[in-house]
Amino acid sequence: MCVGCRERATALELIRVVAGSDAHGPAVVPDPDGTAHGRGAHLHPTIACLDLAVRRRAFPRALRFAGGLDVTTLRTMIDPSTDTTP
Ligand SMILES: [Zn+2]
Repeated sequence: MCVGCRERATALELIRVVAGSDAHGPAVVPDPDGTAHGRGAHLHPTIACLDLAVRRRAFPRALRFAGGLDVTTLRTMIDPSTDTTP
């Protein structure tokens, strides 16, 4: 199930993400191989579903992570044109 739109989808349609860290600190990081340990969440690789997931605070809940998770890396991966890094 996609944590953004909450629609059922096959694993092939979704990307797996896990709680990790990037240059900004704790972050939702993509796990394209599906090999990372720990809890994962699945998401359609679209900005719409990413934004829905962020608005619903779905990532901390799905990944059992208490605290903020940066999605900049994930957002940039899904749509490089949204990279707003100065
Ligand atoms: Zn979705």
